[in-house]
Amino acid sequence: MENILVLTHVDESGNALPKIALETLAAGRDAAAALGCNLTVGIIGANVEAAAGQVAGCGVRILALAGPEFAQPRYSSDAAAAEALCLAANASIILAPATSRFARALPGVAHRVGGQIDTHISGVTANAEVSASRWFYRQRMEAVLQRVHRPWFLLLESGVHAPWQGTAGSPPIENIQVNLPQTRTIVTGVCAPKSDQQTIRPDAKLLFVAGAGWTKKQRDGQIHAADAEQLISGFLRESGASLGSSKSLVEQSGENQAVLKFMTHLNQVGQTGSTPRHPMGLSTCCHGEEPHVVGWRFIHERRAINLDPNCGWARGKADILYVADAFQVMKCLNALIADKTLQAV
Ligand SMILES: Cc1cc2nc3c(=O)[nH]c(=O)nc-3n(C[C@H](O)[C@H](O)[C@H](O)COP(=O)(O)OP(=O)(O)OC[C@H]3O[C@@H](n4cnc5c(N)ncnc54)[C@H](O)[C@@H]3O)c2cc1C
Repeated sequence: MENILVLTHVDESGNALPKIALETLAAGRDAAAALGCNLTVGIIGANVEAAAGQVAGCGVRILALAGPEFAQPRYSSDAAAAEALCLAANASIILAPATSRFARALPGVAHRVGGQIDTHISGVTANAEVSASRWFYRQRMEAVLQRVHRPWFLLLESGVHAPWQGTAGSPPIENIQVNLPQTRTIVTGVCAPKSDQQTIRPDAKLLFVAGAGWTKKQRDGQIHAADAEQLISGFLRESGASLGSSKSLVEQSGENQAVLKFMTHLNQVGQTGSTPRHPMGLSTCCHGEEPHVVGWRFIHERRAINLDPNCGWARGKADILYVADAFQVMKCLNALIADKTLQAV
């Protein structure tokens, strides 16, 4: 019989589980229920009580590896902790969230315990057997995988399962001990942009895509890149949307054309860019050509603003196309949001 371990770590605040961990837990619960097998949760962090309390309503065995040395991501301590939890749970299937922390540490852990690992998992199903799905060839082909080898590690992507929700409490926690190897890496701090400067926000409800039209000559024959920057950054700040881009726009910086300073290649959506998963998307000043729109395959509700009624979005690629000037629409939208915020104050 399988023994499923949902392995996770606390988030950067140090006292909660990341949303992706709750999604992984929900996937683990479904699989354990379908197979009628044991489910254990393993948590790594400096203090794990609050995080364990979040999953109390699950009613499953909780193992923890806690201590100040597990506060920060570091391969040697994370791998040692994860290995100890896998062994303590005697796990045959380990489901873990694909956080950068685990993406780095768990392949090594799989090797240490003689297991095998599959990453970028976009779904787990269990009937008589456990199957995992993942996309290949830039999200064009979906494969369904099964393995006979155990332990089998699966790193689940975010947004592929609804997060587990349940009552919090103070569940019993079994603390596991591990002898850490001598560490050469000391984490002295984290340098990261402020969260409001971070434009890629995988958990945002809305994907806002900017296309090259924002930096092209407008009706008055002039380029208005500074206005575009102000409108877009204002909207992102107030709405919390994630920023995507067309390839043409991100490539302009290398071609000495007008650019939006906060845009990088990481924002590019499409065939040679990313395939984000947000419930809604709003495309602006972007033509909606096929190599771009293939990156929208997981966006449920799609809207676009374009001056051209014959743009790609009009050909069945958007649910709603607003044939309008995006400069004017975003100006009105920002004013409406500001008005609403003022009313709320
Ligand atoms: C092999 C290959 C891979 C590719 N991969 C990708 C990829 O991953 N991602 C990607 O994005 N592209 C990709 N492309 C490029 C893609 O085919 C398009 O060239 C690109 O998406 C066009 O970008 P755009 O729509 O922003 O720019 P443009 O085609 O220049 O369109 C600008 C649009 O802005 C509109 N506009 C201008 N001003 C306004 C205004 N004031 N209000 C409203 N609308 C306005 C115009 O009507 C126009 O439709 C790839 C191409 C190839 C050949």
